[in-house]
Amino acid sequence: MTGFHSVYGSSPEGVWEAPGRVNLIGEHTDYNDGFVMPLALPQTCRVEAARRDDGVLRLHSADTSGGVTELRVDTLGPQSPGTAGDRGGWAAYPAGVAWALRAAGHQVGGADLHFESSVPTGAGLSSSAALEVATAVALDGLYGLGLPPHRIAELCRRAENEFAGVPCGVMDQMASACCTEGHALYLDTRDLTRRQVPLDLAAKGLRLLVVDTRVKHALGDGAYAERRAGCEAAAAELGVPSLRGVTPGELPSALGRLTDASLRPLVRHVVTENERVARTIRLLDAGETHAVGPVLTEGHASLRDDFRVSCPELDLVVEASNTAGALGARMTGGGFGGSAIVLVREDAAESVAKAVAEAFAEAGHRAPSVFEAVPGPGARRVTDA
Ligand code: ADP
Ligand code: MG
Repeated sequence: MTGFHSVYGSSPEGVWEAPGRVNLIGEHTDYNDGFVMPLALPQTCRVEAARRDDGVLRLHSADTSGGVTELRVDTLGPQSPGTAGDRGGWAAYPAGVAWALRAAGHQVGGADLHFESSVPTGAGLSSSAALEVATAVALDGLYGLGLPPHRIAELCRRAENEFAGVPCGVMDQMASACCTEGHALYLDTRDLTRRQVPLDLAAKGLRLLVVDTRVKHALGDGAYAERRAGCEAAAAELGVPSLRGVTPGELPSALGRLTDASLRPLVRHVVTENERVARTIRLLDAGETHAVGPVLTEGHASLRDDFRVSCPELDLVVEASNTAGALGARMTGGGFGGSAIVLVREDAAESVAKAVAEAFAEAGHRAPSVFEAVPGPGARRVTDA
């Protein structure tokens, strides 16, 4: 018997899953029209789903204790009183996806959905995008919409921004929807042009470790909105549509023109981070994967010192890893907790992970969770039920 069957008493029509992600490089660039390079994780949000012909949307997650949320698809809306109570709760993510699909004119009716996810939540690994994209591919499959993955991603981002009220960029949803196995996704968030970049770390004798610090500092959400607003204010003063419009060569003069000194480090991070993505692509194309390590560490310093979104736990992962012989490391995701990535030679992986665990114990932090990231596939239908 499936989880779906025990909740709804019938069989699902199909099963879909969508992965979480880590971002190799390109942080806090996606809401500045910049470049990012995420890869899909093996951890996924899995959804069993079946259509309903009465316009009712029922949502259940094995990962929450709240029971079944029941809504009507034709009354869904970011402002509608019937659904407002669900905003802020987990059901706002999948309900928002049904709303965004319908708002874009797609014929989506009722459905029963049962979710079960292996993506850690709130760890900077995009459990929210996995949940949204799983919902979208399931509804797309059930109702035969045939939407391309990038369109799924755009609608899921709209759901998260406008329905769930989270002002995220488009990277997470694009990663979950569009990544392919064995590749990182090189994405230009200005026009969604993208390239699948082969990332066979094992063939190079390398490993990419994800260290989930298992902390999330409360100031994170407000700080994200504040950084975002700072970037927009800087772009406005510089007379460009977004900070993507400032090239590395123009950086010194751009910094000189900003009257508000507090905006300068934000601009410096975004412009240099876009350049680091370009450098990473060049290194990967040249087969010099090991040389990406120092670029990661440089990116971390920029996030810590200029963008100021790191925290002691993330800094400690980077410092302890590099001291123990990693090729490089950086925080990944929004910051203020969550996860860091560490690029390491295969033979040093164990000792580096041990060094991080010891450093955490010594500092009195909770033990981190460490796993290996091997680039997995994007959202997909798993099986016919
Ligand atoms: P991240 O995306 O980095 O994991 P977010 O704060 O953006 O962190 O999203 C986490 C939220 O997404 C959770 O608090 C919950 O509301 C929702 N969520 C994610 N996965 C699930 C799940 N399997 N079941 C229920 N809610 C989930
Ligand atoms: Mg999220």
